[in-house]
Amino acid sequence: MTVREGSLEAPTRHPLDWKSADFYDAAKLEKELERVFEICHGCRRCVNLCTAFPTLFDLVDESPTMEVDGIKKADFDKVVDRCYLCDMCYMTKCPYVPPHAWNVDFPHLMLRAKAVKFRKGEVRLRDKLLSSTDAMGKLATIPVVVQLVNAANKAGLARGLMQKVLGVHRDRVLPEYAAASFRGNARANASFAVRDGKNTPGKVALFATCYVNYNEPGIGHDLLQVLAHNEVPAIVVEKEACCGMPKLELGDLEAVARNKAINIPVLGRLAREGHAILTAVPSCTLMFKQELPLMFPDDADVKAVAEAMFDPFEYLVLRHKDGLLRKDFKKTLGKVSYHVPCHLRVQNMGQKTRELLEMVPDTRVTTVERCAGHDGTWGVKAEYYENSMKIGRPVFRQMAEAGPDYVSSDCAIAGRHILQGMGETKAAKQHPITLIRIAYGL
Ligand code: SF4
Ligand code: SF4
Repeated sequence: MTVREGSLEAPTRHPLDWKSADFYDAAKLEKELERVFEICHGCRRCVNLCTAFPTLFDLVDESPTMEVDGIKKADFDKVVDRCYLCDMCYMTKCPYVPPHAWNVDFPHLMLRAKAVKFRKGEVRLRDKLLSSTDAMGKLATIPVVVQLVNAANKAGLARGLMQKVLGVHRDRVLPEYAAASFRGNARANASFAVRDGKNTPGKVALFATCYVNYNEPGIGHDLLQVLAHNEVPAIVVEKEACCGMPKLELGDLEAVARNKAINIPVLGRLAREGHAILTAVPSCTLMFKQELPLMFPDDADVKAVAEAMFDPFEYLVLRHKDGLLRKDFKKTLGKVSYHVPCHLRVQNMGQKTRELLEMVPDTRVTTVERCAGHDGTWGVKAEYYENSMKIGRPVFRQMAEAGPDYVSSDCAIAGRHILQGMGETKAAKQHPITLIRIAYGL
C-alpha cells in the first residue's frame, strides 16, 4: 500500500490509552519512540519549534550511523525532557497526525514517555513540588509565611540555595504569592437576569485556577468586574482542586485522575445547569477542553464540562456576536504588545483576545504568535532556564520593537517571562482581562 505524503483531512486525536498495560510497557514505548523519531528525522519540519527537535536531530547526526538506530536508547530521555507539551508540533506543523496512516502524535508520545518515567520513580522531588501548585499555594499563602516566601524569592543568597537544593534557576523571576487568595475574597455578582445568547450561555461559573487564586488574584477580580459590567450573573465554583495540567506535564496521570475526581462532579453539575465555565489560565482551560476528554473519553460529565468551558475572551467575543457585550470603553490602552500563548493557540478559536482589545478605541495591538518558551514549570528549572530564554528571544524582541505601553499575554506566567526577557522597558505587564477592565474605566 502506498501512503500519501501528508494528510488532507482535518486532524483528529486518539484518546490516550493510559489505563492499558501496553502504555507503560518500556519495550513497546521504546519501539514507538524509534518509529516516530524515524519519521521526524526524515521530515524535520519542527526544527525551530522548541529544543526537543534540535536535540533529536543532533543525536541522529552525531550518531555513528547518522540514523535513529545509532542513538543510545538512554539518550531518548534527552528529547523527552525537553518537551513541555505545548502541542504546537501536533497542531501547527505535522502532516502525519491522525487520520494519516503514520499516526504521529508527538506530544502524546512524549507524555507517555514521561508517564513511564514517573511510574518508574525517575522523578525529582523538585518536579513533584513545582507541580503541586495547589498544595504549594496553600502553604505559601499562610500569613507570615507569604512574606518570607516572597522575600526569599528575591534574595540572592536564598536563590542560590534554592538553585543548589531544588534546581530552581536563581535568575528566574518568580511570581509572588498574594497575601489574600482570590477565592477567599472574590465578590461574584449573580443577581443579574440570565440572558442566553445564540452562542453563549447567559450565566458564568468561574474556575479560579491555582495561579489566580494564590499568585495573581487581581486577574480573577478583574474578570468578575468585566462580567458584572456586562450584567452577566456569575458565581465562583464552590469547590476546586488544581486542573491537573502540572501533574500531566510530569507524567503523573494518577494524580490527574485524583484531581479530576474532585473537580468534574462539581463542574459537571454547573455545566448541566447551563453555566459557561471560564478560567483565566489557557493551560487550565485546555486541560478541561482537550486533555481530560482524551483521558476519559467515555465520561459524560467530562464531555459536558468540555462543552461548557470557554476561554474568557472567547466568551466575551461570542457575547459581542450575540449583541450582548457593552462597548462603552472610557479609556484608550495606547500601544499593547500582545502575546498569544501556545495553549490558547491550540484551542483553535482564532485570536479572540486581540479582537476584543482592538475594539478599544485608539488602541494599537501588536500581536506576537510564537512560543515564548516558559511553560508552567519548565522554564524555572535550572537545567532548562537558558533554553527557555533562548526559545523566547524572538518573542522578547518583537514585543519590545513596538515600544509598548503594555505587555500582555493570556498566560500570566508567559507575560512575566517576556517582561524579564525584554529587559529594561517602560511597559507595564497586565493580563488582557485587566486591560479590558481598565478600558471600561472600572
Ligand atoms: S509539544 Fe511543544 S515542546 Fe513538545 S515537542 Fe512539540 S513543539 Fe516541542
Ligand atoms: S512532529 Fe511531524 S512535522 Fe514535526 S518533525 Fe515530526 S513528523 Fe515532522
